[in-house]
Amino acid sequence: MKLIESIVDFRKQRRSIKGTVGFVPTMGYLHEGHLSLVRLARQESADVIVSIFVNPTQFGPREDNAIYPRDIPRDLDMLEEAGTDLVFIPSEAEIYPEGFSTWVEVKGISECLEGAHRPGHFRGVATIVAKLFNLVQPDRAYFGQKDVQQVLVIKRMVTDLGMPLEIVVCPTIREQDGLAMSSRNSYLNPRERKAAVVLHDSLILGQKLWREGERSAKSIRSEMTTLIQGEPLAKIDYVSIADTETLAELDDIKGEALASLAVKIGKTRLIDNIVLIR
Ligand code: AMP
Repeated sequence: MKLIESIVDFRKQRRSIKGTVGFVPTMGYLHEGHLSLVRLARQESADVIVSIFVNPTQFGPREDNAIYPRDIPRDLDMLEEAGTDLVFIPSEAEIYPEGFSTWVEVKGISECLEGAHRPGHFRGVATIVAKLFNLVQPDRAYFGQKDVQQVLVIKRMVTDLGMPLEIVVCPTIREQDGLAMSSRNSYLNPRERKAAVVLHDSLILGQKLWREGERSAKSIRSEMTTLIQGEPLAKIDYVSIADTETLAELDDIKGEALASLAVKIGKTRLIDNIVLIR
């Protein structure tokens, strides 16, 4: 496994790769969720490239950029084990050179849910992903369903800008009790960690109601909200029942729907989602 930090070296190395490339962009502090993406990329491509970059422009001024967990040696061990060929770990100066002024903004789909609660977040995400796609030139790039709105934003960008690659979406990997794996779970103290299961519990409740025939999005949202409010450490940012493609909030659920939520457990903001589907 090769480790590269500069864009110049990366370009040189990339030119020598002739087969198909599968690419997994990450912010590091890896867990089984990330590795599931790397393993699928390994199965589907001749070369697997992973990037680790905590992208400052997708964090708001009061968010956790500076304290975002990092452990590069551990990440490298895990990536080697999962069959990565090349890891790209650029510095901030490398990605955002002096005078940087070019941004990718995906209107519409970026503006609700996460976008509404984290202004500028998806502009940062779209910009870094576009830059990484330009550098890596992958045939396929792998993203997690856990960040479902991110997937929709990136798919929109790829279509709109005619980027020549396929976006592959991988299922959410969970802890035994249902909590979606996330680098941010490491912020939770033991009491908060127990409380955090309320996100998944409420999604499962939404799914159960839907399976029993409830089609009023308002009723499902309200029952999910009540369940979360029963957890004293939890503070809701949003509970959404929305169209799976447009993310528009629904009144009556006709076909399938996306149940998604963002909840603060103590100071840690967690997100999760589930598709209501037969
Ligand atoms: P991050 O390092 O948080 O930017 O995540 C990098 C990629 O891993 C993104 O495409 C995420 O959606 C994906 N990912 C994060 N957590 C999970 C999970 N629990 N299951 C599957 N994919 C995940």
